[in-house]
Amino acid sequence: MTDPITCPECEGKRGQQLGPLFLACLFCGGRGWVGADNEPAEACQKPPPPPPTATDHKVWTDPYIAAAFPCRMCFGSKQVTHVDEDSGVLMTSTCPCSVEPAPGA
Ligand SMILES: [Zn+2]
Ligand SMILES: [Zn+2]
Repeated sequence: MTDPITCPECEGKRGQQLGPLFLACLFCGGRGWVGADNEPAEACQKPPPPPPTATDHKVWTDPYIAAAFPCRMCFGSKQVTHVDEDSGVLMTSTCPCSVEPAPGA
């Protein structure tokens, strides 16, 4: 939070007079000043953080939740559902956690 200053775009004139039209300054929103709680330009500078992947979600740092579900892929149901990208069909397959190791392997 900064102290309000005169808008550098419109120099405090709140916009631009174009004949009969008055265009409100987009930078300060027609107020003639920026700063304090009026910082539209700064508000959209931060891009949102990328969404975490399912198995990387911070919920798994909770030991109670991690212990409650034996598998992060299927949550213990032994089946995982995903969309087949080629056909666009919802597929259900056996979770790797329930696949029995081959005899002798
Ligand atoms: Zn302005
Ligand atoms: Zn599983």
